[in-house]
Amino acid sequence: MPRTDPSSPVDATDAALVARLRERLVTLCALPSPSLRERAVVQHVRAELEGWGLAVREDDAAAALGGEAGNLIAELPGGRPERVVLNAHLDTVPPVPGEPLAPIVDGDVVRTNGRQILGADDKAGVAIVLELVDALRAAPFEARPTLVAVFTVAEEIGLRGAHALDVAGLGADFGFVFDGEVPVGEVIAAAVHKEAVTISVRGRRAHAALEPERGVHAIAAAAEVVRGFPLGQQPGGAVANLGRVAGGGASNVVPDEVVLEGEARAFTRERLDELLREIHLAAAAAVAPLGARVDVAQRRLYDGYDVPEDATPFAWLRAAAPAHGIEVVKVRSIGGSDTNLFNQQGLPTVNVGVGMHDIHSVDEWIDAGDLARVAAWLRDTLLAGTRRQV
Ligand SMILES: [Zn+2]
Repeated sequence: MPRTDPSSPVDATDAALVARLRERLVTLCALPSPSLRERAVVQHVRAELEGWGLAVREDDAAAALGGEAGNLIAELPGGRPERVVLNAHLDTVPPVPGEPLAPIVDGDVVRTNGRQILGADDKAGVAIVLELVDALRAAPFEARPTLVAVFTVAEEIGLRGAHALDVAGLGADFGFVFDGEVPVGEVIAAAVHKEAVTISVRGRRAHAALEPERGVHAIAAAAEVVRGFPLGQQPGGAVANLGRVAGGGASNVVPDEVVLEGEARAFTRERLDELLREIHLAAAAAVAPLGARVDVAQRRLYDGYDVPEDATPFAWLRAAAPAHGIEVVKVRSIGGSDTNLFNQQGLPTVNVGVGMHDIHSVDEWIDAGDLARVAAWLRDTLLAGTRRQV
């Protein structure tokens, strides 16, 4: 897959941009913001936006989710007709208890000390959105579209902030998410549908020593369900997993219930439905010889999306890319992001790669030079827009 050249020279202007993004990132990464506890970073981002004179509002997601803070939404008006969403999420995976958040600057690279998370997922995206708002507010009113900056909460625990967000109420035309753990130039524009799967296996209780033959052993039946389950990679790019098992009780009782929790993902609704049917049939077939019963429940977590290459977000990105030595490559992701929820609610949105590395781990790092390239490219994307479209 084509990659952009990470060693391309950086001129003096870019050096200032790199330094600014590095500093923004370090400041943001030093603020703790595990999911549902994003108040400190919300205050920081809000103060910065209000300092620039933007109207900022926080939606009611905090109450809906039981968190500290809601989604933060700020608007920078422009003279062009388009309204463009720029999104990043404010929360991170949970920090390691007892270890300070102390991002290390190593040249242009910002990394961890190996003992604590960094949280560039997605503080890197937050830094880029702030940079873009700042850059466009300095541009002539007539030259810029209206920016709708959306900072979401609780992304890491099931896109819950985005679930609570009123996307239609943003009145936007399309959007860019900055949460891609792929190289600069790669744009995640297709991702999976995902459903939670709960399999309840029911047997019959009996005394395990006096009359075990009267029982139907739910753990034994669940073992057969696991054996028959389509674990891991499946044809057509689908994937399924069982991640949790609970059940049974005292050791002298034939157990009567086991619950298996898992998930299934696929790039099309049809393929996901097919996989879920397979899971249902396999579970029923697995327990039948043992006389157990099985109940399979599924719950939609989010829809997939596939933004075509001729859609407006791609046209805008491609118009400005060559000047930055960037080749735009559409990629697809087996993971979900807030991009799923924007598309699901009718807003064509793509997830722009920002060059995150080793996310969700204590080895995470990111090159501020990559952030600067994305910021410079997107600044020109937003200012050039449709004028360069053919
Ligand atoms: Zn993320």
